[in-house]
Amino acid sequence: MTGQPPSPLMRELIRRIGASGPMPLDEFMRACLGDESHGYYRTARPLGADGDFITAPEVSQIFGELVGLWAVEVWRAMGEPAQIALIELGPGRGTLLADALRAARLVPAFMTAVRLHLVELSPALRADQAAALGDRPASWHERLSDVPGAPAIIIANEFIDALPVRQVIWDGAVWRERCVGLGADQALGFVCADEAELSIWEQAGLPPEPAPGDIAELRPQADALVAEIARRARADVLCALIIDYGYSHGEAGDTLQAVSHHGFADVLARPGEADMTAHVDFATLARAASAQGLQVFGPLPQGRFLLKLGLEARLAQLLAAATDAQREALMSGARRLVDPAQMGELFKAMALTSSGLPPPPPFA
Ligand code: SAH
Repeated sequence: MTGQPPSPLMRELIRRIGASGPMPLDEFMRACLGDESHGYYRTARPLGADGDFITAPEVSQIFGELVGLWAVEVWRAMGEPAQIALIELGPGRGTLLADALRAARLVPAFMTAVRLHLVELSPALRADQAAALGDRPASWHERLSDVPGAPAIIIANEFIDALPVRQVIWDGAVWRERCVGLGADQALGFVCADEAELSIWEQAGLPPEPAPGDIAELRPQADALVAEIARRARADVLCALIIDYGYSHGEAGDTLQAVSHHGFADVLARPGEADMTAHVDFATLARAASAQGLQVFGPLPQGRFLLKLGLEARLAQLLAAATDAQREALMSGARRLVDPAQMGELFKAMALTSSGLPPPPPFA
């Protein structure tokens, strides 16, 4: 016990579970992250050294710069449309976008064509994003489906990992829904509900020969996101770049994690006050995308993706103009992005495109 009073969302969740019974994990996660009054992404400033976690664009400017040059190449492959929606899902502090646009200034026609659309829940982060963009006009949206249709380049770095997951657990005979319920002491605890309702699509994605106690994760909102990307790609030329941490084959079991002040936290301890994510299942994402008519490229490990996009050349350029202190930071940042023991292997990049587009760099 920490002696701290329960978080406001904890009281609300205990009330709701007391009234309606155990809550499926995705509903719990949705409340923790997105609750209108107390959700983590509605209230916190999560990113950075004084926040809870750090992401690739915050580690090194090279990440956003390479993504910016990648976007220019994709726009060229699309035939240089006069207007291109550059849509970022969950832009955090706006660092990736600011670095990307600075690099893309080398191609003025691209800058003239770009219309910025940011999909973001957090009011605090929206303010950070506006500050990072300076006087460049941009529109903010609650969800991708609110962005007007247009030829589009979509960027999603560490966005899908924050979309809620369901968990189902094999009891030897059926898959049951893993839920958050109340123990005798009225504290939150994991419970198994009745047999889970699973669509044929979901059943096909579950491990074929589970052992009792095995847990599998499903992410209905990722399937919905892929369906929305596919819908847009049927109307207009489109390329989406998805970068996230996760696995590309096999089953990972229970990957739900809470992170607070750069360390792991108990998922149930302080709802709404810690970041909560789960690994991205790239194989399921790819399967859903192909089934919806999208072309799928990758996933490639982040390290290989960035090296093939020219990370070393960009690093050399920056080092040539840097002071000694800056050199150390530049080198350790770049290393962290590509080193297989750090972000280079666990993080992966995948592209989804409308049919007819050639493979985007560096997937060719
Ligand atoms: N892409 C950024 C931030 C990653 S953190 C970076 O790489 O630094 C996740 C981001 O997604 C945050 O900006 C968060 O507020 C936003 N977010 C999480 N869930 C969301 C949702 N359902 N809809 C819109 N934005 C969401």
